[in-house]
Amino acid sequence: RRSFEEEAPVRHRMGDRAAEKPADGSRIPLGSAAIPSTPGKFLNTPDTDMTTAANQEWARQLLPRIADSTLGVVEAEAARVDSEKEVHDIISGALRAQEAWAARPMSERANLLRECARVLAEHRAELLEVAASETGKTFEQGDPEVSEAIDFALYYADNAEDLASRDDIVFEARPLTLVTPPWNFPIAIPCGSIVSALVTGSAVVVKPAPQAMRTGAYLVRLLHEAGIPEDVLRLVDVPENEIGQALIGDERIDQIILTGAYETAKLFARFNPLAKIKAETSGKNAIIVTPHADLDLAAYDVAHSAFGHAGQKCSAASLVITVGSVERSRRFQSQLADAVLSLRVGWPTDPTVEMGPVIEKPGEKLERGLTVLGEGEKWLAKPEQLDETGRLFSPGVRTGVKKGSEFHRTEYFGPILGVMHADTLDEAIEIQNGTDYGLTAGLHSLEPAEIAEWASRVEAGNLYINRGITGAIVERQSFGGWKRSAIGPTAKAGGPNYLMHLMVGSDPVEGE
Ligand code: GLU
Repeated sequence: RRSFEEEAPVRHRMGDRAAEKPADGSRIPLGSAAIPSTPGKFLNTPDTDMTTAANQEWARQLLPRIADSTLGVVEAEAARVDSEKEVHDIISGALRAQEAWAARPMSERANLLRECARVLAEHRAELLEVAASETGKTFEQGDPEVSEAIDFALYYADNAEDLASRDDIVFEARPLTLVTPPWNFPIAIPCGSIVSALVTGSAVVVKPAPQAMRTGAYLVRLLHEAGIPEDVLRLVDVPENEIGQALIGDERIDQIILTGAYETAKLFARFNPLAKIKAETSGKNAIIVTPHADLDLAAYDVAHSAFGHAGQKCSAASLVITVGSVERSRRFQSQLADAVLSLRVGWPTDPTVEMGPVIEKPGEKLERGLTVLGEGEKWLAKPEQLDETGRLFSPGVRTGVKKGSEFHRTEYFGPILGVMHADTLDEAIEIQNGTDYGLTAGLHSLEPAEIAEWASRVEAGNLYINRGITGAIVERQSFGGWKRSAIGPTAKAGGPNYLMHLMVGSDPVEGE
């Protein structure tokens, strides 16, 4: 295996990646056992600073390797599971190994997570390489994902030690956790889900999304290299048929950490009604732009929130709601068109690319979103297929989207944005809340009264003011939604109460 340690980039902390710290704790019911986070204790891992010549050179060397990456192939092949009996045996093995794992002191598991973080950081290049080659994720999008994966390991290590130091409640692990991550964040999401369950003392079986199996396998290999016992963390590649169903439905699974579509979460709940399901699901997220907004900034933030990773994020903006004169002046629409059309689209082997391909040829739903206009809708930018792979599209923007229409309510998960209009902020909030989901939401307004009004009424887990609405950062913007964007405990990923919700607790009372 190639080592790029000697070429590791020089990193500099890049200052605040976020403009705001959302009022996370105050909006989510914390429950009686909430742990106060210690401000200033946790430092986020910086992304690669691409302004330095050394780092630019490091990235340039990485790009040609993306086209033919073979990382993770061996593990992915070895992990293929072909029978229900194999599924059964894997779970039995993980459960046997779990007892010794849970018997280790929490601090030992926390230190192993810190070692995982170190190994991931050392292999940033390879992680970017395998994710780009397998899923089409660009360097610009993949690099923060590696930082987030490292942050999850370090943050949950600290959290676990905080939990262990409590003398009022005793926490116990749930023995077996099934992790089913998505392909759109093939590094950070599986990593966060796996290490959070592991540190509590649970054994983990992870089933990566088929489109990101090699990346999942490579990640798991690194976690094993860092010292996580192989039988405590098992990767499985199961087909999505009765064998997959046997895995998901196995009653020995105590909990499932799922990131995927709402419909998938419902299916899992049917297959395994007794497991605790913690699911981060779909979103249909909007940014409101009022006449008090900085319109240049708003156009930039909308374009990047909508088209980063080709719109394939649960957090992506797929609607922008212009209020009052913002639409009538037409200025915002032309700024938005400029911002969108100047995005550079291409494959991740080109370092200047800002928007990469979609994961596979669009299915029926995305195809509709890319081609069919609803009543009264017009293209501001018509999406065009850019090459013969059928995976590369120019960004699409449609205007005139009506309240309650198909486009208003459907999550397309692709490079397509709709512009809606509201006469007042009040109406805009109603439109923003008028979907089944509540994951991220944005407001562009420099008027404090508007901000206060909006923040008190919007129904979403992650609120962003005068900035983009994607790219939540561990500890600063713990991530999770309301309504059909989340199932199970409300504790958000990368937030102070997440681990506790993966465990069972008892509070001992002594007789006097
Ligand atoms: N946590 C990611 C973000 O804040 C989104 C994760 C997802 O799409 O599932 O952009």
